Amino acid sequence: MDVVNPATGAHVETYDEHDEDDVEKALGRSVQAFEDWRTRPVRDREQLLANAADVLRENKQEYAETMTREMGKPISQAIGEIEKCAWVCDHYAEHASAYLEADHHPSPPGSAVKTEHEPLGPVLAVMPWNFPFLQVFRFAAPYLTAGNVGILKHASNVPGCALAIEEVFEEAGYPDNVFQSLLIPSDLVDDLLTDSRVRAATLTGSGPAGRAVAANAGDQVKKTVLELGGSDPFVVLDDADISAAAETGAWARNLNGGQSCIAAKRFIVHTDVYDEFLNSLTDEIDALIVGDPIDEATDVGPQAREDLMETLHEQVSTSVDAGATLVSGGEPLDREGAFYPPTILTDVTEGCPVDTEETFGPVATVYEVADEEAAIAKANDTQFGLGASIWTQDRDRGERLASQIDAGCVYVNQLVKSDPRVPFGGVKDSGYGRELSEAGIKEFVNRKTVWVE
Ligand code: NAP
Repeated sequence: MDVVNPATGAHVETYDEHDEDDVEKALGRSVQAFEDWRTRPVRDREQLLANAADVLRENKQEYAETMTREMGKPISQAIGEIEKCAWVCDHYAEHASAYLEADHHPSPPGSAVKTEHEPLGPVLAVMPWNFPFLQVFRFAAPYLTAGNVGILKHASNVPGCALAIEEVFEEAGYPDNVFQSLLIPSDLVDDLLTDSRVRAATLTGSGPAGRAVAANAGDQVKKTVLELGGSDPFVVLDDADISAAAETGAWARNLNGGQSCIAAKRFIVHTDVYDEFLNSLTDEIDALIVGDPIDEATDVGPQAREDLMETLHEQVSTSVDAGATLVSGGEPLDREGAFYPPTILTDVTEGCPVDTEETFGPVATVYEVADEEAAIAKANDTQFGLGASIWTQDRDRGERLASQIDAGCVYVNQLVKSDPRVPFGGVKDSGYGRELSEAGIKEFVNRKTVWVE
């Protein structure tokens, strides 16, 4: 696997891929590791996870630099990502025992009935490059602590991150092979899924990848969790605090170079505040510093790969040809590396690419709507259902409208974000199942009912 630095186009490193034979051996080791790991008290597994949080914090600069080199995340955001991984570990190190406690049920006199939460075995995780550490810890922290063992197939452009994560678990003192990274292309995923030793799979990524994995896993009667794409609405109502909405909105769209599933992608704005909001958003977006991701002052780095930037630009150009107006940005930057500027489009015609598809980069569309009803209708007019943000100074109004949005989460007066304390996941084409919180750790357990007479 060749790693190319997207900020410069320079070759970084070449990693040897694992082949079918390596995969076979890894599966054997995984099953063996599970036999012992499943019997360990949850308290021991929590302690190891707390160690993993320490390892992450101790090496955050090094891990962050690996991320920045491989996929171009601005270094300050990369450090923030490692700190968030440590927080996820802390959370499950503190709460896993309580989450996994047996449920007791009303039972007839003389009987005791409970449901235990037992691990399933080796879980395959197919993960994306955009949050190359966080996505992995979101699955590994809960699932390993529940007693499962993990096999990671990471995205092909972040093999250094995949190996660094394996190292985190080793340094934390995990038994060998409880967590393994396989550097394999996606066409080997089917073989893993059809192998009876793999008991479940989780995928974070695009719709086509999710459908392929879910179809195969379904055929094998294996449970999956899918965290897929999104086209989150950011609804600005007539009573919103416009400057706060614009400041947060600019960040919510452009964080991680706009390459976030829960980025605010479609800004849906009440006509009474449309001009004011568009002007403020444009000012905020134009003020973002685009540049070398290793520079701590940089807000927006390159896109993660040249081909991804080309796809994004194609979406923008086709939409402009169809009638959209470019307010800002809209052309790749004339410099080395895959740099695309923060871009704003208005007058977006129905059905054009930026209207219906996920834009995985710093491209904001801004729509003007007549009233609250039209705002909700536009927010829901998408195949996706991941997150949504609503801006209003009337909290009751925000809560009432939140219940009308088809999404896995709605944030009022806040950007959409993941937090280990609350469930995260989508509906519609954004996937199914939940990560994080108690819901996340219970996705891959056998809820075993034990009835003792
Ligand atoms: P991607 O191309 O779907 O890749 C994701 C992972 O799936 C990679 O490891 C990839 O391997 C693998 N893969 C691709 N095609 C596959 C197939 N047919 N069978 C099995 N595995 C396959 O997505 P991406 O470009 O890395 O990530 C961006 C997408 O992820 C966006 O749509 C984003 O919204 C979504 N995402 C969702 C969430 C969430 O929580 N909902 C979070 C982050 C990202 P290779 O790299 O080897 O191709």
